[in-house]
Amino acid sequence: MLETSEPCFSYEFFPPKTEAGLRKLYGRIEHLSELNPSFVSVTYGAGGGSRQRTVAMAQHIKKEIGIEVLAHLTCVGHTRAELEELLDELVDVGVENILALRGDRHDEVPEGELIYARELVALARKRHPHLCIGAACYPETHLESPSPEHDLRWTKEKVDAGVDFLITQLFFQNSSYSKFAMQANALGIDVPIVPGLMPITNVKQIERFARMCGAQTPAVLFDRLRKWEHDEQAVMALGMEWAIQQGRELLSFGVPGLHFYTLNSSLATRVVHASLGGRGRWSA
Ligand SMILES: Cc1cc2nc3c(=O)[nH]c(=O)nc-3n(C[C@H](O)[C@H](O)[C@H](O)COP(=O)(O)OP(=O)(O)OC[C@H]3O[C@@H](n4cnc5c(N)ncnc54)[C@H](O)[C@@H]3O)c2cc1C
Repeated sequence: MLETSEPCFSYEFFPPKTEAGLRKLYGRIEHLSELNPSFVSVTYGAGGGSRQRTVAMAQHIKKEIGIEVLAHLTCVGHTRAELEELLDELVDVGVENILALRGDRHDEVPEGELIYARELVALARKRHPHLCIGAACYPETHLESPSPEHDLRWTKEKVDAGVDFLITQLFFQNSSYSKFAMQANALGIDVPIVPGLMPITNVKQIERFARMCGAQTPAVLFDRLRKWEHDEQAVMALGMEWAIQQGRELLSFGVPGLHFYTLNSSLATRVVHASLGGRGRWSA
């Protein structure tokens, strides 16, 4: 089980499609080492090349750059046997932390294959008991869930299958997190729930993301953003200011850490992280 001595700061990146993009990203991640992130997470996308890109990138960050890594993995697009192989592969290259996800589903699941993230958690826990396993949770409720109560109950089942920590979907109102954390706690979810924050740098992009993941867009922030939409610097300044305020307040609540969705562009996140002054690490 994980414990935190002080808040952990982590960054999420996705594997670029080209070698040149990858080299550029490694440069950014190396630069981040100065801020001593607790870990860097590497997302996983369904489809051919993505599998190898996530494994290779996780291996490089851990072994060559020297930052702890969390590799995402999704049930979608894989058979049980493939997922077992993939878990073995991640362990073989030295990955010790995974984020077990379902992924976004568009097809029927064949008989006998994994439907929900909970099943991947159970599979990983059984196959590699030493792995540190994280999962996703949704303070503003997963879009497909019939109700917040259902979502929370299923999150509890997922945690009980062997989850060590949860990372939330992005949100812009801390009240969503506090309410969710309180309800989760009341239901017996006792693992760390790490808030996921995305410093806004582009209005259209964040509106698209918010729609896709069901994040609420409070008028007090988004009216201002829309007013300055065509001024890149102003949007970035507003986005950073909001994320710093959000982070500061969350840290004052005693959250176990902050996970930053960077979309591979780490500048805004670096500024936010530096302003919050976090240098924590997970400790086993
Ligand atoms: C921190 C974070 C990182 C992410 N990284 C990635 C990534 O790298 N790659 C990627 O493709 N996607 C990623 N996602 C997106 C994620 O894959 C989607 O949000 C997906 O739609 C749900 O994944 P999950 O693991 O939460 O699924 P699950 O926990 O399986 O839940 C999916 C839905 O099923 C419902 N449900 C759960 N159990 C049951 C049950 N027993 N009966 C009925 N309904 C049930 C839930 O309420 C929810 O609505 C990430 C999300 C977060 C928050």
